[in-house]
Amino acid sequence: MRAIVASDVEAGKHGGKVVTRFPPEPNGYLHLGHAKSICLNFGIAGENAGGVCHLRFDDTNPSAEEDEYVRAIQGDVRWLGFDWADNLFFASDYFDRLYGYALDLIRAGKAFVCDLDAEQIREYRGTLTEPGRDSPYRERSVEENLDLFQRMKAGEFAAGERVLRAKIDMASPIICMRDPVIYRIQHSSHHRTGDEWHIYPMYDFAHCLSDSIEGITHSLCTLEFADNKALYDWILDQLDVECHPQQIEFARLNLSHMVMSKRVLRRLVEEGHVSGWDDPRMPTISGMRRRGYPPSALRNFCEGVGVNRSDGTVQYDQLEAAVREDLNKHAPRVMAVLRPLKVVIENFPEDLTEELEAVNNPEDEAAGTRSVPFSRVLYIERDDFQEQPHKKFFRLAPGREVRLRYAYFVTCTDVIKDEASGEVIELRCTYDPATKGGDAPDGRKVKATLHWVSAAHCLEAEARLYDRLFSEADPFSGQDGTDLAAALNPASLEVVPKVLVEPSLVSAEPGGVCQFERLGYFCLDSDSGDGRLVFNRTVTLRDTWKKIEAKGR
Ligand code: ATP
Ligand code: MG
Repeated sequence: MRAIVASDVEAGKHGGKVVTRFPPEPNGYLHLGHAKSICLNFGIAGENAGGVCHLRFDDTNPSAEEDEYVRAIQGDVRWLGFDWADNLFFASDYFDRLYGYALDLIRAGKAFVCDLDAEQIREYRGTLTEPGRDSPYRERSVEENLDLFQRMKAGEFAAGERVLRAKIDMASPIICMRDPVIYRIQHSSHHRTGDEWHIYPMYDFAHCLSDSIEGITHSLCTLEFADNKALYDWILDQLDVECHPQQIEFARLNLSHMVMSKRVLRRLVEEGHVSGWDDPRMPTISGMRRRGYPPSALRNFCEGVGVNRSDGTVQYDQLEAAVREDLNKHAPRVMAVLRPLKVVIENFPEDLTEELEAVNNPEDEAAGTRSVPFSRVLYIERDDFQEQPHKKFFRLAPGREVRLRYAYFVTCTDVIKDEASGEVIELRCTYDPATKGGDAPDGRKVKATLHWVSAAHCLEAEARLYDRLFSEADPFSGQDGTDLAAALNPASLEVVPKVLVEPSLVSAEPGGVCQFERLGYFCLDSDSGDGRLVFNRTVTLRDTWKKIEAKGR
């Protein structure tokens, strides 16, 4: 695709200009597939000197479209890092001109008003193996067509009573060339033009003409429109237009364990399977943003999957890998404990708080250091202790010495249990003051380094641990998709109501991502505020699914 554009520029085609567009329909939120299209359209424009990319709302179907989506889409495109400058357009701004073009087609004998209903039109259309039949209204006179079309516009007829069709070829091997409908009656109110119009152009008619009106040079679209290219070109060839853009198709992006269709995403929201379009498990741009995926990671991912001409599915791992790679470089490290186990350092003074120096990001020296308070009572991760350690378990156990990150070596001297349940509720330890900062002057080694927080200083927070929304790589392979609930991963969200985080997180900003050391990347959720902290797990540190899947084999 880039090569085609580059060679067109070199050959001076379209005056050597590159004008692309991203044309969303404002009937839902954008998803990762749209991100691919955005990166491609804005990317190709940006790579060519003087290239521009328009943001055009394809708002030709008033029944599904809303201003809320128009605003959200603009926010999403900006957040992804792209700028349409002054090139914001709405197909609805062209309604008058499109209507004029339709009149031109009628006058040229290339369009007619048809009274067949939707069902009949389908019957007459034929199939892939059988040609269609001409509509009985196909030979209406130009005058009658003009009169009826104007009356359709004036709102004289009910929806579905009449349509305007292009007069092409009912025997065409390309079904969309069999006298396609180009205007339909619809009496719903439009989010921008209100009740002014009673007829609305169909996608195939509006799209090529909007491209032409805007002087688009390369109209990039997904493969399912390959057949529609014939219609795209036909319409522009019949009419007196100055610009005839070139349509080039590319493969849709599909992601394993996910669905990428607005229709299904809307059902997930409306049926209450997720908390909204921006639920962090959704593949929407707003969901991924709330989850903590950085825009640069999404751009790199889209770049990495490339542009090709055959449909394929990209593995979810690949998306997570792109997010990890990005966050590893940029996310500050902090300590937090998901499932706390109390530790008392018996030889540490009762009232003392030591401020220890901790490195903010080992991958980025410029990120500097911060101080973390250490005191007599701490919490460590429950999983980091085993009373009877497995032979490959090197973390804390009775009598064993480990390092507390940025702090000291500690040795477990006693285990306190709940009398009734037998559950371990507290560990008693001693620390070696000579190991401050985490190294022993006598060179002795420990096999594990644990994260921790100070009981007197830590903050409480809620953690939301997210996983894939669907259990299977191809969620609808075994079913038709009517039963969404059956395909969902029941473990896609685990809420841990009380986790403990280091005090520096008091100043965390919503959307800011940090690494909880040894646990994963977490981002402060927008539900936080008024002293409440909620963290979304953006991604784990390693690909745990790969391990689980490998074990299953
Ligand atoms: P959906 O099928 O999810 O409803 P759509 O194609 O109807 O999507 P539009 O708002 O019309 O949604 O899409 C705007 C642009 O984004 C179009 O140019 C379309 O080709 C592109 N696009 C949509 N889905 C994908 C995808 N999965 N991969 C790549 N591009 C996509
Ligand atoms: Mg569409």
